[in-house]
Amino acid sequence: MKLKFWGVRGSIPSPLLSSFINEKLIVALTEAGRAGIDLHSPTAVEAFIAGLSPAVNGTIGGNTTCLTIETDDRLIIFDAGSGMRELGRHLMMREFGQGRGHAAIFFTHTHWDHIQGFPFFVPAFIEGNTFDVYHVHPHVPQVLTEQMDSRVFPAQFSALGATFRFHQLPVGGTVTLGDLEVANIELEHPGKSYAYRVKRDDDIIVLATDGEYKRLDHPALKRYIDFYRDADVLIFDAQFSVREAIIKQDWGHSSALIGADIARAAKVKRLVLFHHDPASSDEEIVAIMNQTREYLTHHHRRSLVMVDVAREGWEINLNRNGNFDVQQVNVDGMVCLNLLGQFDARATEAFTRAILAVGQSHHNQTIVLNMENLAEISVAGVRALLEARSNVYGIAIVNVPSNIYRVMELSGTLDFFAIYPTLNDVPWKGATPEG
Ligand SMILES: [Zn+2]
Ligand SMILES: [Zn+2]
Repeated sequence: MKLKFWGVRGSIPSPLLSSFINEKLIVALTEAGRAGIDLHSPTAVEAFIAGLSPAVNGTIGGNTTCLTIETDDRLIIFDAGSGMRELGRHLMMREFGQGRGHAAIFFTHTHWDHIQGFPFFVPAFIEGNTFDVYHVHPHVPQVLTEQMDSRVFPAQFSALGATFRFHQLPVGGTVTLGDLEVANIELEHPGKSYAYRVKRDDDIIVLATDGEYKRLDHPALKRYIDFYRDADVLIFDAQFSVREAIIKQDWGHSSALIGADIARAAKVKRLVLFHHDPASSDEEIVAIMNQTREYLTHHHRRSLVMVDVAREGWEINLNRNGNFDVQQVNVDGMVCLNLLGQFDARATEAFTRAILAVGQSHHNQTIVLNMENLAEISVAGVRALLEARSNVYGIAIVNVPSNIYRVMELSGTLDFFAIYPTLNDVPWKGATPEG
């Protein structure tokens, strides 16, 4: 399954202001100066830019909710926020441009920020395209039609060239589309919203946007935790700070830290913060991500769920090939790298880049590699681990799954590494404090 984000903001589209672009340029150029980057070399500049924070080298994006999940033979669109316009442009370059496209569209609910892109979705105007629309709220067809009423929009729903087939889903029901199963659950939100859990073999993606969790005790959260359980990716409404989520009761939104607690309880691999507040700058959203990563390290058991921010144009590939990722978190002043996915020949470059970056900034520190979310390792991966030792002060490895332990054993390399059962077993006290 390939997941792609086309719109990630909540409430209303919020285009990047000129003043923010200006700030990004100042930060980037100042950092380049400090790092001594050769500004006459396009390759050096490109590599430097790629290493900058997503808040500096691009933007989180200003479009409202729209995302897609795609397999070889299925395309599912979730919500029709303003991000749907760009999705439409992209689809027009494919079979949808010739009127031969088919997609399913699932609606979480019909607030403006989840439907306003629909009238600008060009494939809907092309004869021959077919859309199966799935919705739990019975009023979805009516709202889509009224949004294009002649008093407020020049083209009417009835004049659309494509064929639309509406399918109302029961609350809590599951629909099967080829080898995909899509289940739903009701979320607390003004007028209700529905989360969707998409499952294909062992791969699970959950979209849970526009949801409030008023009670945080286990019995109240249990139904959500069960629904989100073992998700590879949980896309979570993180519009508010914890403080706002408490003050703005009944607004129907949640926060990143509440998402972190729920993700940890549900054993989610990767938490993706979503439905960003239109008033938050890119820098503020990245700061929320960093706080959430830190928050998860303060828990007694230190289960390190990966945390990311959803940004426009970002893709996550769950095809079990090439989905390797490495993410840095700081735990008690120590640097920990979370490894995710398949650690093979395609992964070594990304891994080595991350090791070199840590080695440069933390010369005299042991770093921890958390393998909790690593699916498998090849000899190329083991080799990269061995080579990494020369680029950092020392390496400790924790949470090694049995299949990976066995590969290291078979390759006769176990004794090259300091392996501990969990993060808590690493002798942190001997660490050099962060400079
Ligand atoms: Zn919304
Ligand atoms: Zn809403």
